[in-house]
Amino acid sequence: MQNPLNIAVVGSGLVGSLLAIYLKKAGHTVHVYDRSPDIRKIQFSGRSINLVMSNRGWKALEDIGLDDEIRKIGIPVEKRAIHTQDKLAYQNYGKEGEAIFSLSRGLLNRKMIDLAEEAGVEFFFDHKVWDVTLPEASLHIGETERGEWEEVKYDKVFGADGAFSRVRHRMQRQSMFNYSQEFLRIGYKELNIPANADGSHKLDKHSLHIWPRGEYMLMGLPNLDGSFTCTLFMPHEGENSFADLKDKETLVAFFAEHFPDTKEVIPNLVEDFFKNPTSYLVTMKCFPWTFEDKVALIGDACHAIVPFYGHGMNAGFEDITVLHNLIEKYGDDWTTIFSEYENSRKPNTDAIAELSYRNFMEMSSKTADEKFLLQKKIEKWFSEKHPDKWLPLYSRVTFSLDPYSEALEVGDFQNKIMEEIVALDNIEENWESNEVEQKILELLSKK
Ligand SMILES: Cc1cc2nc3c(=O)[nH]c(=O)nc-3n(C[C@H](O)[C@H](O)[C@H](O)COP(=O)(O)OP(=O)(O)OC[C@H]3O[C@@H](n4cnc5c(N)ncnc54)[C@H](O)[C@@H]3O)c2cc1C
Repeated sequence: MQNPLNIAVVGSGLVGSLLAIYLKKAGHTVHVYDRSPDIRKIQFSGRSINLVMSNRGWKALEDIGLDDEIRKIGIPVEKRAIHTQDKLAYQNYGKEGEAIFSLSRGLLNRKMIDLAEEAGVEFFFDHKVWDVTLPEASLHIGETERGEWEEVKYDKVFGADGAFSRVRHRMQRQSMFNYSQEFLRIGYKELNIPANADGSHKLDKHSLHIWPRGEYMLMGLPNLDGSFTCTLFMPHEGENSFADLKDKETLVAFFAEHFPDTKEVIPNLVEDFFKNPTSYLVTMKCFPWTFEDKVALIGDACHAIVPFYGHGMNAGFEDITVLHNLIEKYGDDWTTIFSEYENSRKPNTDAIAELSYRNFMEMSSKTADEKFLLQKKIEKWFSEKHPDKWLPLYSRVTFSLDPYSEALEVGDFQNKIMEEIVALDNIEENWESNEVEQKILELLSKK
């Protein structure tokens, strides 16, 4: 048991609210500040922006006994439904019984705040944190940047205030603080597939639907209310870009040509497209993540990634698991806790940043490529025969707790092997043969 402390968490997002629960259960007094109003009091439009939770996220919830509560508001998704121009194909994500979960971000965040309050965490909404005095662990809070600020002192401050973190801003002004931010030329826009009149889903609800089209793609994830939230990813500028789709006629013609099977299921295409904003995607990296034993960053505040692996929140939740284990191990020695936390997490969050970036190509182009689909079939076949020798990359990232950095390294090695295998003569006919199996085993032994 640690000495009880007064701890502030800046940000009541998914990571901030879960971290607050952990810290409260460890016996501390925990205050959470958020610049936004209480998400539980805001009316949702009924539609919901969703995200997927996988094993790393579930682990952080399981360890504190919240997984059953959260599972009730999710839909298991066990496969990709790939809509090419002329057919629909399915590809399982993992083994029988393995699934990722589609969850409404709003519902999940509300639930987490409820659970944190039940645990005794105190929330301060509509409180903007403008600055932090790092050596004092004190927050400067006020209505406006140039107005009056109140200073509130704590023993520790956690910055869970997202990709454009104010806490990090202050840390950035320290010498030896490294920081990089890179915007993707691909942006995104939300669209919606409403439920049928009887509340059922218009498409298979246990699939993540993808319409891969190379430089751009459409994706759909199921919601509990029978709808799907779709995300159109495409370049901001250039050919087949958001800039191109500037009026109703062009948009409708574009969808009719490239996504013909969505005509029946996205009735409000024009209205949603022009009403919903086009958003940007950013990868942000920084180091260090902590200041002395006083302040630490967590979640998107220290590692914002592009969403193509569905792992931003999962990685943030894994930060919490790691931090919690270190707290259990080192008790009141926060200097060691913070140092091991940032050093162990950094290579892993860099790895998931890289994997997420690469996964855009996999989703938008490769899922429509016959050679790639064959590669996936061979990997699945071989890994079922030799589960101890081959865990496919997606499964290692999503259904295992192996470090992300290991997943990246092993994934690159496996990819090299598969490049040789799919280049073999007559592989389309022979892929299930003893010869192919022996060849993979031989290549594996060269590691
Ligand atoms: C299109 C898209 C799809 C995604 N899909 C997935 C997915 O499928 N799976 C997955 O795991 N991840 C996904 N992610 C990533 C995921 O959304 C983020 O990683 C996650 O929300 C990060 O949580 P967080 O709590 O660290 O930060 P945030 O959710 O950004 O929360 C930060 C909080 O801090 C508050 N705040 C900010 N500044 C201040 C301030 N100065 N003072 C007080 N409060 C402040 C904000 O109001 C906010 O409530 C997706 C992201 C995008 C963009």
